[in-house]
Amino acid sequence: MKKHNFYAGPSILSEYTIQNTADAILNFADTGLSVLEVSHRSKEFQAVIDEASALVKEILDVPAGFEVLWLGGGASMQFCMIPYNFLARKAAFLDTGTWASNAIKEARLFGEVEVVGSSKEAGYTYIPKGFEVPADVDYFHYTSNNTIYGTETRVDPKLPCRVIADMSSDIFSRPIDFTGYDAIYAGAQKNLAPAGVTLVIVREDALGHVDRPIPTMLDYRTHIKKGSMFNTPPVLPIFSALQTLRYYKQLGGIKELERRDLEKAAVLYGAIDDSKMFTGTVTDPADRSIMNVCFVMTPEYKELEADFIEFCKGRGIVGIKGHRSVGGFRASLYNALPLESVKVLVEAMRDFESTH
Ligand SMILES: *Cc1c(COP(=O)(O)O)cnc(C)c1O
Repeated sequence: MKKHNFYAGPSILSEYTIQNTADAILNFADTGLSVLEVSHRSKEFQAVIDEASALVKEILDVPAGFEVLWLGGGASMQFCMIPYNFLARKAAFLDTGTWASNAIKEARLFGEVEVVGSSKEAGYTYIPKGFEVPADVDYFHYTSNNTIYGTETRVDPKLPCRVIADMSSDIFSRPIDFTGYDAIYAGAQKNLAPAGVTLVIVREDALGHVDRPIPTMLDYRTHIKKGSMFNTPPVLPIFSALQTLRYYKQLGGIKELERRDLEKAAVLYGAIDDSKMFTGTVTDPADRSIMNVCFVMTPEYKELEADFIEFCKGRGIVGIKGHRSVGGFRASLYNALPLESVKVLVEAMRDFESTH
């Protein structure tokens, strides 16, 4: 049976990415070797990482002055690398969920942290608005898409201080205006590649303004200087990322990715809003994530949630169980997920509702 993969991460990758990765595991770039067993210093792999970085710049229209890095350690490693490199005295954070809180916890090890807004008291079901960022902070950090709660900020903040964003789960779902940013980062396993690599895009002249000594591996300047090859980079995930980037370019680039993502989200939110059985956990349409759609059953049907997940399995729908901290359902609609899968889910919701 065809599977419809709604997992939140690691998550669906394009067939193009998976097929080309499988082929290269057997024979990489006609070397007669597997991509798993070649030197990262080989000219064939150098070509891979160079093309991947160039495609990131092309697809996201990254301006001059920014560097593209491929690092290990996951997005969670960035929670400490960012303050290590950017927090001299004080930083401002928006607390929009678990990932934001994890980033705040790490930053507190390096200096003063001011939480300028939080939706914690409401279970992180909305994005705080109207908050003020003090003028004297080294940077403002926020999470553009809250993977667990299904909220998203799709407007790039313009602030008089540096802005840094965790875009792990919505990168490549919309154009980014880099003029307001000094760094963005994204773990690859949501919209780009298998787990193991993190994409960082950092403004080079924003570095070097803290006094503390920085361990070599945690200093962005090390990786800029060495082209992400100071040590052995995650070769296989970078190879897969290149395949995804080529696929994104073939599809028509970032505007086309955004159009598809908006369409898929509209279909699913439409079905949720039309239903008497299901209801969205994020009520303000402006805050609803187009990547992770969170919904639950209304109180009178609540006990049927486990049955619905089983019902979905019968139709090849996997990965819709909500995060343990939210419950209910979460359908992740990452770029590689076809519209057809969303339609299959919507049909399952309608059929289940009409028979219960
Ligand atoms: C998944 C996720 C993370 C954590 O990524 P790791 O690579 O597992 O460290 C951080 N931030 C956001 C927004 C995420 O979705």
